[in-house]
Amino acid sequence: LRRVLGAGCRADFPILDQTLPSARRLTYLDSAATSHKPSSVIAAMRAHETRDNANVHRGAHTLSVRSTAAYEGARDKVAAFVNAAAREEIVFTRGATEAINLVAAAYGARLSAGDEVVLSVAEHHSNLVPWQLLAERRNLTLKYARLDEHECIDAAHLASLLSPRTKLVAFAHVSNTLGAVAPVEEIVAAAKRVGACVLIDACQSVPHMPVDVQRLGCDFLVASGHKMCGPTGIGFLYGRLELLQEMPPWQGGGEMIADVFLEGSTYAPPPSRFEAGTPPITQAVGLGAAIDYLSSFGMEEVERYEQQLGAYLYRRLSEVPGIRIYGPDPTTGRHRAALCSFNHESVHASDLATFLDQDGVAVRAGHHCTQPLHRELGAAGSARASLYVYNTMEEIDTFIDSLRATIDLFAELE
Ligand code: PMP
Repeated sequence: LRRVLGAGCRADFPILDQTLPSARRLTYLDSAATSHKPSSVIAAMRAHETRDNANVHRGAHTLSVRSTAAYEGARDKVAAFVNAAAREEIVFTRGATEAINLVAAAYGARLSAGDEVVLSVAEHHSNLVPWQLLAERRNLTLKYARLDEHECIDAAHLASLLSPRTKLVAFAHVSNTLGAVAPVEEIVAAAKRVGACVLIDACQSVPHMPVDVQRLGCDFLVASGHKMCGPTGIGFLYGRLELLQEMPPWQGGGEMIADVFLEGSTYAPPPSRFEAGTPPITQAVGLGAAIDYLSSFGMEEVERYEQQLGAYLYRRLSEVPGIRIYGPDPTTGRHRAALCSFNHESVHASDLATFLDQDGVAVRAGHHCTQPLHRELGAAGSARASLYVYNTMEEIDTFIDSLRATIDLFAELE
């Protein structure tokens, strides 16, 4: 039986079926911040907690064996989902932020004064601040690629920043504010020409489209479980095995060692070397179940559905007078994801979000952890509507009706 997205899968998400204190039905348009979990993910985590819970690795007893199988099984699922060449290339972390901090600490340990890291002005704070901290510690130079006229990363400008001193190029596959899809191929090719490693922040791509680390040709890729139908507290780093093998540990503790002596210790091979302490086991089980859920549709189908939905959102929103949408216009053939950040010429973004909430419509307002990008766009913040597999065209209509009514109300008050 072919599984259907949108209205066809809404019943899988119990949280969506609710009436809010405003007496309105929930219209959830904030999945770029965090997505919801289908019953199958909730059930898998509950089953693990009620039947299999034990600490992983080394335990001889039945529950520990089950827990280990579940945790390592989740790693296999992630590896297959992003087409890693080996399961050891997947390191579980608390989220994408921790995965980037891991790379900054462990890969960063090999960088020295004068080495360069190239980023873009559109990065999420979690792909900026870890590099700023590292740059301070090791006297590195950070360079920032600007945006082109479509408000995408300007690949030519980025390439012009590269030099033999560039050790890493790190950028978001899909911008959580612009919805722009980065010109990955061009950037990776340019980085390889100067021998730099590439880190892709795939927080907003892995949940929404097929992502193949081998095809992308990246050295590192990070994502968060909670944006892809899984729970918070789990994310992953993909790292090319030779690179991970060369990298020193970043946190010390149990699990990450080979032998410990009072005089010093030796370390486990990857991925354990980078997973100190008891890991988020139930969360990994949840992420594995989320991957099963998304795979039941197929990521090509997820992308196809979201492209339709995203194009409709963009069109309806761009028809509202006084609205400026950031990022590329999909009608120019530019690839963009199913999210729109926008401002109205006179109504403040946080007022829009507050009034939309009165109609049960959940959108985000603020800087979306991209303050430098908002400065670049000449805005203090913006409102953002972001879509996922369970959203429908009707919900977009509800959003647009509520938005128009809010704007009219503010016009009357003036
Ligand atoms: N990068 C991007 C592009 C994101 O959208 C987010 C989440 N908003 C992050 C990084 C950080 O993810 P997390 O907070 O789950 O670590």
